[in-house]
Amino acid sequence: MGDINVTFLGTGIPIPNPNRAGTATLIEAGGLTLLFDAGRGVTTRLIQAGIKLSEIDAIFMSHYHSDHYSGLLDLVMTAAVPFPLGHRESSFPIYGPPGLEDITEGVNRAVQPDLKIRILDEKIPAGSMRLDPHIYEEGVVFDQKGVRVTAIEVDHGDLVKPAFGFRVDFQGRSFVHSHDTKYCRNLIDQSRGADVFVHEVAAANPEALANSPKIQRIIGHHITPDLLGEVFAEVRPKLALLTHIIRYPPDPPTLDDMLADISQSYTEEVVAARDLMRLRIGETVEIIDEGILAPL
Ligand SMILES: [Zn+2]
Ligand SMILES: [Zn+2]
Repeated sequence: MGDINVTFLGTGIPIPNPNRAGTATLIEAGGLTLLFDAGRGVTTRLIQAGIKLSEIDAIFMSHYHSDHYSGLLDLVMTAAVPFPLGHRESSFPIYGPPGLEDITEGVNRAVQPDLKIRILDEKIPAGSMRLDPHIYEEGVVFDQKGVRVTAIEVDHGDLVKPAFGFRVDFQGRSFVHSHDTKYCRNLIDQSRGADVFVHEVAAANPEALANSPKIQRIIGHHITPDLLGEVFAEVRPKLALLTHIIRYPPDPPTLDDMLADISQSYTEEVVAARDLMRLRIGETVEIIDEGILAPL
């Protein structure tokens, strides 16, 4: 049986944090290298993880908040640069829900000035420095070499559509990432029994939340720790993790406060993912690298 190897490249949120890049997760399975979302700093983290940019087989987009795709332009342009982890000579296949065309057209246009220079000056192939879009709907969006990627429609708010999480299956192993969502029945139903289940979470100071429509709007697009405990208890993964952890100011709850709220419904271990944390999903689930040790 093959393993699924997971590297959290970015576990951050829209607010910049040098220890937490924008959302991006790398899955290696069946000889494939798949990138899920490409937030701020994704290229730097890929290089830190030792990933050859020429060997990324596909990119998948969850939704179109910029913290999930703002790293795309840098990735596409830098991959073609001749350095040991660069030298990419082909386009990047990218899978996303409707709306992807705006991003791929924009990126493919933005690269033109540098692309023209490098084709003439460095003789890079004309097909490099390019995104090759594939629009998906809910369901299986990719199935190659025994690696199946399923897009799961999630609930990130009525005006944030489309929005998807992903499930990756390979030789009986499974990984699910909620991406950005509120409590979502469809996600729970399609995640049950997953080996690894990664979910976003958001919390604010109760008093500030009660008094601020702005904070209510932000938290209202995400899941709170108490409800997330109920989700984990239904899904019952081998390992549950948090990512995209929003602690909205002022005076937000600590991570320990959030874990305590989760534990009211789910008493198994819950791990806060870190940038460059690596997991191996095999017979068991192992954390093989703790990643960047830094406070939230
Ligand atoms: Zn979002
Ligand atoms: Zn986000």
